[in-house]
Amino acid sequence: MSKPRRILFFGAHPDDCDLKIGGTSIRLAKAGHLVKFVSCCNGDKGHHSMSSRDLAARRYLEAQAAKEIAGIYEYQVLDTPDCELEATLENRHRVIRIIREFQPDVVISHRTCDYHADHRAAGQLVQDAAYLVKVPLCCPDTPIPEVNPVFAVCYDSFVDPRPIRIDAAIPIDDVMETKLKMLDCHKSQFYEWLPWDKGDKNFDVTKIDKVAWLNSMWIEPRDANIAKLAGLNCKYVEAFEQTPYGRQVSKEEFNALLNP
Ligand SMILES: [Zn+2]
Repeated sequence: MSKPRRILFFGAHPDDCDLKIGGTSIRLAKAGHLVKFVSCCNGDKGHHSMSSRDLAARRYLEAQAAKEIAGIYEYQVLDTPDCELEATLENRHRVIRIIREFQPDVVISHRTCDYHADHRAAGQLVQDAAYLVKVPLCCPDTPIPEVNPVFAVCYDSFVDPRPIRIDAAIPIDDVMETKLKMLDCHKSQFYEWLPWDKGDKNFDVTKIDKVAWLNSMWIEPRDANIAKLAGLNCKYVEAFEQTPYGRQVSKEEFNALLNP
């Protein structure tokens, strides 16, 4: 095999990476490529009854369990509390150093028009880092990589100011079972916080079919929409848009970078 590729995803919370690029990551990892997830926040606000301290500890373990299932290189969880991530200079430098140290071929995050302030801040931090990563006098303690990465954003359904453009669509039917097992690791979210947040205050995980629940709530409507937009004949798919801020590659090369 030629040199393994390195893919770096900055999610805002522990579970964003899994949802947005879990399937693509499983496929890449299986083929020997290195995928690193970074959660910019520690996940300490995503619950209605646990303390923030206990929740952060629990979510770290959930992320590590998902990492083992996916076979990825690392799932790093930074220490910023949820709902408090900002595009500060300190965080920008932190993101630049993480990118330089991992030396990825592709860096992906959220768009800056997302619904959640932490998602927007993560997207802004990565966008701000995209050019600065190759400026040697910016964070001079961490050498610049030989090749500037391609920068991309992951699929979302927001349409203001415009819908996302699908530059790469990765069919993941063959690894969907494993992706669902990754999501199943985040029990504090999918079976506790998220149902409660959506209004189901008496949700009982013992009374549901977990795979059917995860699929219907978090996967199938979204993936069907992406497959339709991308003109793909598959059920499950993840999609990405290349941004104009990093190294520019053709659509074909962008797709090839994210496909094993
Ligand atoms: Zn999130």
